[in-house]
Amino acid sequence: MKKVERFLKEKGINVGDSIKITTKEGIEYKGLVMPPYELSEGETLTLKLDNGYNIGILVDNIIDVAVVKRAKPKESREFKKALPKKPNLPNVTILGTGGTIASKIDYETGAVYPAFTAEELALAVPEIFEIANITPKMIMNIFSEDMKPEYWVKIAHEVAKALNEGEDGVIIGHGTDTMGYTAAALSFMLRDLGKPVILVGAQRSSDRPSSDAAMNLICSVRMATADFGEVAVVMHGETGDTYCLAHRGTKVRKMHTSRRDAFRSINDIPIAKIWSDGRIEFLRDDYRRRTNSEVWVDDKVEEKVALVKTFPGMHSEIIDFFVDKGYKGIVIEGTGLGHTPTHLIPSIERAVQEGVAVCMTSQCIYGRINMNVYSTGRKLLKAGVIPCEDMLPETAYVKLVWVLGHTQNLEEVRKMMLTNYAGEITPYTRFDTYLR
Ligand code: GLU
Repeated sequence: MKKVERFLKEKGINVGDSIKITTKEGIEYKGLVMPPYELSEGETLTLKLDNGYNIGILVDNIIDVAVVKRAKPKESREFKKALPKKPNLPNVTILGTGGTIASKIDYETGAVYPAFTAEELALAVPEIFEIANITPKMIMNIFSEDMKPEYWVKIAHEVAKALNEGEDGVIIGHGTDTMGYTAAALSFMLRDLGKPVILVGAQRSSDRPSSDAAMNLICSVRMATADFGEVAVVMHGETGDTYCLAHRGTKVRKMHTSRRDAFRSINDIPIAKIWSDGRIEFLRDDYRRRTNSEVWVDDKVEEKVALVKTFPGMHSEIIDFFVDKGYKGIVIEGTGLGHTPTHLIPSIERAVQEGVAVCMTSQCIYGRINMNVYSTGRKLLKAGVIPCEDMLPETAYVKLVWVLGHTQNLEEVRKMMLTNYAGEITPYTRFDTYLR
């Protein structure tokens, strides 16, 4: 048993209790007892102070300790309350899938647990209940790095069910890491969509003073009730709390590990600005308006698809591996205008000959590929590589998963990959879309 665990046991203190301690130096601290870090030496007690920050105090330095408030019993957290619907408000379902937006630290166990009961939402962000009748539903609780095509299909069906049962919009709370992939998947799978489907996340959890969770959620409810009928990601538009941006689901990418405004529209402009006072300013005209069409899920997918980034010195056996393992598609994140090291071309030729769809995107992220400029590009085109215009590599990967679920005939795959289904290909690259 670690020293800190022994200390807590002796004093009858539980993780999650609010306590007051006095140190040898005579300093008093009040805060919530955090679980000991797994990798720590175990000599430090961690307290979460009222300001949200954690401090560590050496157990040997503590001369006095008193319990201020005991941790809430667990059962009360399971409490679910159906909130009465206001007839004058639109109806929005929030589907929880996990990630920071839907999580709170359980100080008793150190585990991250969902904060998606109606009661918890109401307590955390009461403003959203003034905008819409909210029905929260936790459909999974995973980190988004653990997302997979099977789950995209599950989410798509949950969205369709809610919308076809009469909801005016659906919000999906999602981990930010792979939110762009899920947004793209829903953009391809939800056909005849006529209502807003909004993905939202948080870069900073709601127990931190700098959390973006509340404003992102409020803005997403605004967007979910707007005259809009597409899939979009709604997240902070800049580092302050002035506005959020709604990005088209196929053109959005997480571009920063930690900033609140990490999400950017790539090679395209965002759809709308959602100001913190509730105003929605559409930034373009070519978006689908709200309709009453019945949405259906085109959920055919092929999971044996890889997304491969090329690099100087890459060995062609990496391409051979996927072909030998029976992969049906490879999206290459090539260099510049859409290139691979020249010595990879025979392996790519072989892949295509064996019926594997090979698609090209650029690791530049910004801009459009053009494989006609250099001989490497021309050789790759001749080998049968499908040039993916200005599609994001992740969007091209998701699209290929979906396209190969429909056909594995390479000519058909080419036709579908180059058909613009959900705004994933822009007709030309706008000058004003770079690093704004
Ligand atoms: N990495 C996790 C995820 O993407 C948690 C971080 C977050 O929610 O942004 O689900």
